[in-house]
Amino acid sequence: MPHRQKTFLSSPHMSGHEQKYIQEAFDLNWVAPLGNNVNGFEEELASYNNISDVAVLTSGTDAIHLALRLLDVTPEDTVFVSSLTFVASANPILYEGATPVLIDSEPETWNMSPEALERALKDAEQEGKLPKAVIIVHLYGQSAKVDELLAVCRKYNVPVVEDAAESLGSEYKGQKSGTHGDFGIYSFNGNKIITTSGGGALIANDAEAIQKARFLSTQARDPAIHYQHSEIGYNYRMSNIVAGIGRGQLEVLDERVAQRRANFDRYVEAFAHIPGVSFQPELKDTKSNRWLTALTIDPEITGVDRTDIIKRLEEENIEARPVWKPMHLQPLFEGVTYYPHEEGNSVSDRLFEHGICLPSGSNMTEEQQGKVIDVLNEFLL
Ligand SMILES: *Cc1c(COP(=O)(O)O)cnc(C)c1O
Repeated sequence: MPHRQKTFLSSPHMSGHEQKYIQEAFDLNWVAPLGNNVNGFEEELASYNNISDVAVLTSGTDAIHLALRLLDVTPEDTVFVSSLTFVASANPILYEGATPVLIDSEPETWNMSPEALERALKDAEQEGKLPKAVIIVHLYGQSAKVDELLAVCRKYNVPVVEDAAESLGSEYKGQKSGTHGDFGIYSFNGNKIITTSGGGALIANDAEAIQKARFLSTQARDPAIHYQHSEIGYNYRMSNIVAGIGRGQLEVLDERVAQRRANFDRYVEAFAHIPGVSFQPELKDTKSNRWLTALTIDPEITGVDRTDIIKRLEEENIEARPVWKPMHLQPLFEGVTYYPHEEGNSVSDRLFEHGICLPSGSNMTEEQQGKVIDVLNEFLL
């Protein structure tokens, strides 16, 4: 019997329009460095998200790094960040030699707890050391409690960077994810809802800041005919070929959101009624792109350990993963200050221990998803 074709957590799903933009770049010999596709992709991303300014870059991680540079983060500073996230949210804090402070999740969105943030900011103020920025992540496509978080940050006058790497196309109160804070970032990495093979974007309603980001992302070259430099720059700019892929992908983003939401609904239909199974909630007045379907399986109620499910799926050539391991549990962040949701109640610990992400790609067939559901039913029915 031929081995079952692998079912991925999330794999690239091309629209078929990408090559038209790439061909155009070849025809005009705008293969490098910049050109029509970079400008076009920036304008189209701005228009889709209803934001004034966008710089496309080589990754989402670079975009966070540039946001921190623009906010003048130095080795003397602290930066607050969601603990339950992919390490890329926090690594740029370390690039600048600054000190991270990790903030727990709340149970209603799995994202940054406004209560924990408030306690952390209060302590910081008392110590006379407010953070230079708060990085808020929208996990698996679900928006954090933006109003509550922004209110706390405004009270202490601390700028906000939204890590919307996973939430492109999601909405909070009708407004696109990533556009609420001072800066927002997107990722077009291979496993994200749309991909350029690798890439990212920094966004803001601030033309001057985004122009500065473009400058920093092209080695910070001063305006002179000779090569002159007065500050540290990076090679972070997206290429015109890569941007062509992005333009073809952006055309189908809404379709991809609908497909991923349909995957989520099918999982909910199969398992939501089972005691001890809880899906990542969708907060009222928000729309998640459901980049990944994430759920928790309580071993005390179901008698099932999520790791056993992941191993069993692997035998069927199906990729599933635990929910992100929180940063406060990572060796890299050992000793870093952590604020749980409530004293003695760390929400992200529980989400990690019981949480699982199921295959969620927009190109997953119903047959493939049916197999995933069958395997889970071996454990849960
Ligand atoms: C993917 C991801 C990033 C980083 O994006 P890259 O383009 O891979 O650098 C940052 N934050 C989160 C939450 C992510 O999932």
